[in-house]
Amino acid sequence: MKKRFYTALTLFACTLIVCACSTTPKKSTPLPPQTVMHLKAMQLSPILPIPVKGIKRQNLTDTWGAARSAGRRHEGIDILAPRGTPVTSATEGLVASLQSNRLGGNVVWILGPAGSWHYYAHLKSHKRGLHVGQYVHAGDVIGYVGNTGNARHTVSHLHYGLYLAGKGRGAVNPYPYVHGDF
Ligand SMILES: [Zn+2]
Repeated sequence: MKKRFYTALTLFACTLIVCACSTTPKKSTPLPPQTVMHLKAMQLSPILPIPVKGIKRQNLTDTWGAARSAGRRHEGIDILAPRGTPVTSATEGLVASLQSNRLGGNVVWILGPAGSWHYYAHLKSHKRGLHVGQYVHAGDVIGYVGNTGNARHTVSHLHYGLYLAGKGRGAVNPYPYVHGDF
């Protein structure tokens, strides 16, 4: 009888461990398919608002293609701004990922019109409550300028990347797109 009890106890403990392990690799939240289809059918405007509050076109430098460490080329533009300045979405779209990474630090990925992907990196933090699957409009605050990731020894800035062939694929220079205030 006692042996049976211990066998049951062991089984129970194993079940707990298996359950705990199987929940660790968190599945990414799927984006609402209808909204994704709707976004893909939209046109991407050739003129987008500058995604940092208070920054004017004449404050921008075209840093696309500049040399970076390990033979990389700069796949985006750096928009210099004081730490904590609100970062605003350049387009409407779905918040697709908030997963931090080594180079980008705190980042936001947004799936926008015509299946464009927008990458906002080195954020001090995300806007509180921002979540994957959330629909944002151009000009909505999504985070705050910082220097996380490989920007930790540089001045605070937003790295803005624009991709036309998928998440992280088909990078194009965002500089000709971004103009003026929203
Ligand atoms: Zn950059």
